[in-house]
Amino acid sequence: MGQLEGKVAVVTGGSAGIGAATARRFALEGATVFVTGRRQAELDTVVKAINAQNARGQAIAVRSDVSSLEDLDRLYTRVGDHSGRIDVLFANAGVAELARLEDVSQDHFDRVFGINVRGLLFTVQKALPLLSDGASVILTSSIAASKGVEASSVYSAAKAAVRNFARTWAVELAGRRIRVNAVSPGPIETPLFSGIVADPAQGTDFRDALLAGMPLGRLGDPDEVAAAALVLATDASSFTTGAEFFVDGGLAQV
Ligand code: NAD
Repeated sequence: MGQLEGKVAVVTGGSAGIGAATARRFALEGATVFVTGRRQAELDTVVKAINAQNARGQAIAVRSDVSSLEDLDRLYTRVGDHSGRIDVLFANAGVAELARLEDVSQDHFDRVFGINVRGLLFTVQKALPLLSDGASVILTSSIAASKGVEASSVYSAAKAAVRNFARTWAVELAGRRIRVNAVSPGPIETPLFSGIVADPAQGTDFRDALLAGMPLGRLGDPDEVAAAALVLATDASSFTTGAEFFVDGGLAQV
């Protein structure tokens, strides 16, 4: 038996990186996974690869931008028509853009908060009617929410908001036995992370400096975040809600 046999899952930001790895893991564990993101072609590639793996479950691509309420409505209509409920919601879509305080513009603020905070809030709010009693909601925060990171004030604040959504919603939704937890990755090798490394705002030795400060001496793999999301998705974490699960090689502790 897969750990998510017969479950219905939604993964936002599933066309790359952590979301794609988690969608694959959930499907391998037996879930029907609605994989969402902004770019249809990339989504189709991810879903095709998952379904070619003889997963116990299946993956279904739905193009949906979390910053569009119409897209979210369309997504949940599709999920409702197909499966009638959601057992696991991985609200993971996010963007990381860097700017030192003196360079922060209103556009930068609106983009980073618009996707990471506003988009995530409505992703969860609009899922409420479909969430089954006892469902698991997992929000992707970041180690940046609890550490000073150069040129990251807006991103860090946005991810701290996400971490605190988990606290509040854990309490608000406990009556339906819905658990809400945050997963906080450290540096994980994904397209988003490559973009940060290439950003001149971080300086040229960013990657080497980061590696030198990693307690486990390496960067993380998206599959390692997927493994943590799986724990939060299943009854292995049945008494855990409002918590933060660091997947960061120990970086938050130094
Ligand atoms: P990624 O860029 O590789 O993938 C992000 C996914 O989100 C992509 O599929 C992208 O298309 C999607 N996305 C972006 N904006 C969207 C929108 N408006 N609507 C729908 N989908 C959208 O990034 P990743 O590294 O896999 O990051 C996933 C999450 O993990 C993000 O929330 C990110 O902030 C967080 N995170 C990543 C790291 C890291 O080191 N990679 C560290 C901490 C937190």
